[in-house]
Amino acid sequence: MTTTKPLITIAIDGYSSSGKSSMARQLAKTIGYRYIDSGAMYRAVALYALRHGMIRQDQSVDSASLVQSLPEINISFAINGDRQVTMLNGEDVESEIRAMAVSNCVSPVAAIPEVRHALVAMQQQMGNEKGIVMDGRDIGTTVFPHAEMKVFVNASPQTRAQRRVAELIEKGVQATYEEVLANVINRDHIDETREESPLRKADDAAVLDNSEMTIDQQNEWLLNLYNETIARK
Ligand code: C5P
Repeated sequence: MTTTKPLITIAIDGYSSSGKSSMARQLAKTIGYRYIDSGAMYRAVALYALRHGMIRQDQSVDSASLVQSLPEINISFAINGDRQVTMLNGEDVESEIRAMAVSNCVSPVAAIPEVRHALVAMQQQMGNEKGIVMDGRDIGTTVFPHAEMKVFVNASPQTRAQRRVAELIEKGVQATYEEVLANVINRDHIDETREESPLRKADDAAVLDNSEMTIDQQNEWLLNLYNETIARK
């Protein structure tokens, strides 16, 4: 007798560069779910703002112009070879959205309520058939408050900055440890203190501190949690 597993919604939140995207992507691949990197969507909006001169020298945002332009910003995901890439108005911007110029202005952009409303609505639409793993900052609290499985990932800022520098260097992006650490700490602060859906652990989320874990150990932990969640359904 074959039993089909029920489809669920999986929300993975946590701090910048906590490794949540890699874990989320791997889990989605293993269990055949759709994976959505919600941070990439905020990064694509930030890139649009940068390209259109809406980011001032002090990294503050011309939010009135950006809000007015929201209907012209179309974000989607596509497959390029074996990678899922982020598309901004039909252009593959996957590499560009990872650059420090975008990392430095994405949190102020993500703090604008109208930007959040527009992206949260898109994310909820993407998840309406379940069978989805989404990672971000507010997935378990705001986007999918009824997700059957919620995880909150953390690691020390130093560990996260070290990992991020290694990742950036591997991708050929120039960055120093000091600059990345400052960016990680600053983004955490903006994400935690913004008025609109700040970064916080959902009450029913399982916490994972992966500072001392290898990638394989994290993947195993997440897959076990998925299996336990499904077994309870
Ligand atoms: O996940 P990543 O670090 O790429 O996200 C970039 C930024 O986008 C975060 O620092 C945060 O300001 C914002 N973000 C958010 N809500 C999400 C995902 C990302 O505010 N769900």
